[in-house]
Amino acid sequence: MQSTYHPIARDIVLVGGGHSHVGVLKRFGMAPEPGVRLTLICTDVHTPYSGMLPGYVSGHYSYDDAHIDLSRLAVFAGARLYRDDVTGVDRTNGTVLCRNRPPVPYDLLSINIGSTPQMHTVPGADTFATPVKPITRFNTRWLALLERVQQRTTGVLRIAVVGAGAGGVELVLSMQYRLQRELAALGRSAALLEFHLLSAADAILPTHNARVRHKFAAVLAQRGVHVHLQAHVVRAEADRLHCASGLTLEVDEAMWVTQAGGAPWLQGTGLELNAGGFIVVNDQLQTVTDPHIFAAGDIAAMQNYPLEKAGVFAVRMGVPLADNLRRAVQGKPLRAYHPQSRWLALISTGDRYAVASRGRLGFWGAWVWHWKDWIDRRFMKKFATFPTSVRTDRHVP
Ligand SMILES: Cc1cc2nc3c(=O)[nH]c(=O)nc-3n(C[C@H](O)[C@H](O)[C@H](O)COP(=O)(O)OP(=O)(O)OC[C@H]3O[C@@H](n4cnc5c(N)ncnc54)[C@H](O)[C@@H]3O)c2cc1C
Repeated sequence: MQSTYHPIARDIVLVGGGHSHVGVLKRFGMAPEPGVRLTLICTDVHTPYSGMLPGYVSGHYSYDDAHIDLSRLAVFAGARLYRDDVTGVDRTNGTVLCRNRPPVPYDLLSINIGSTPQMHTVPGADTFATPVKPITRFNTRWLALLERVQQRTTGVLRIAVVGAGAGGVELVLSMQYRLQRELAALGRSAALLEFHLLSAADAILPTHNARVRHKFAAVLAQRGVHVHLQAHVVRAEADRLHCASGLTLEVDEAMWVTQAGGAPWLQGTGLELNAGGFIVVNDQLQTVTDPHIFAAGDIAAMQNYPLEKAGVFAVRMGVPLADNLRRAVQGKPLRAYHPQSRWLALISTGDRYAVASRGRLGFWGAWVWHWKDWIDRRFMKKFATFPTSVRTDRHVP
């Protein structure tokens, strides 16, 4: 491998190791940009791949199968990796503010930090419920729940998932599948567990077609999951959830997968945010406020395309984002990204079976799960093995 030293002329700082930034790092690793220093700042060193998260909960995948190791990827990309929480952006001085380290200067900044379930609006939720993100918090709680179930011999354990979009439905079915198997392995009855799914709307999976909704309603009924519609949770306590409808549900564990919002620290950046607190970007994934700042994935709200918050879009944005960051440092005009209007969602039922949903189409089977598994593993392979011959330039950070 040849190594040519270029003085660092421009700093590109990537905030968050989400699905778009892993694509950016891979692309810059494959074709380094002379004079550019990349820095990734991320809370976690292992970032979850959303498509495999339910399969991890089900026990089909190990932690490593379902997570991308950002430290290896950063080495491949010749990027600095700072493990820290970003808490703000000082746009006047062009620096990123972190919880634990001094401000990090940038020439170009890109934000791909995902979204967070909005719990602060529900009293008690922050204390008594577990959001599915950040994943480290969820994982700790999930492992504790696994242990709790393994040790339980009497009394019913009631588990609730708040939010009945694709994430919530997948999560409740995956948790049920795994926990019931754990009990079966110990020779205990599945009746020791009770599952509840709460939807504020009058339907589950409100953004999917009727065929898919009916299929999941049937699966949930067959699996004995109690579905509560129009159950908008307004208060959480240690052992119960109170809904606006008057329903009070006694629960031992509550997982939160509701409509997500943008991180509160974005409010202080002066960037234009939409009503959900997401950063408004143009078709070039550049913020409408500041041409030096880009955003992608769940945290970005494309002003011309109202997109569902889904990992599939975050992944797809990786390529145009990388190209536009490169074009911006080269002083070339940026290119527009036009997301597809219809997209395929492969939603698993926890038991190596999945449902495909696209526009008005819906179909399912064990083969759909195997197809999804093949797609997901192929995606992850790109971040597990790196070609050794392409890097001809590596900056000394
Ligand atoms: C249970 C579940 C199942 C899902 N299944 C699917 C699916 O099958 N298909 C699909 O398309 N979508 C799915 N989704 C949705 C999907 O998870 C999100 O749309 C996707 O993760 C968004 O990707 P992202 O790159 O925007 O952000 P994320 O994947 O959330 O990544 C954000 C990154 O930023 C980091 N970060 C956050 N805040 C900071 C900070 N302040 N400082 C530094 N770093 C920070 C995080 O540590 C993380 O590495 C699912 C969601 C859930 C909850």
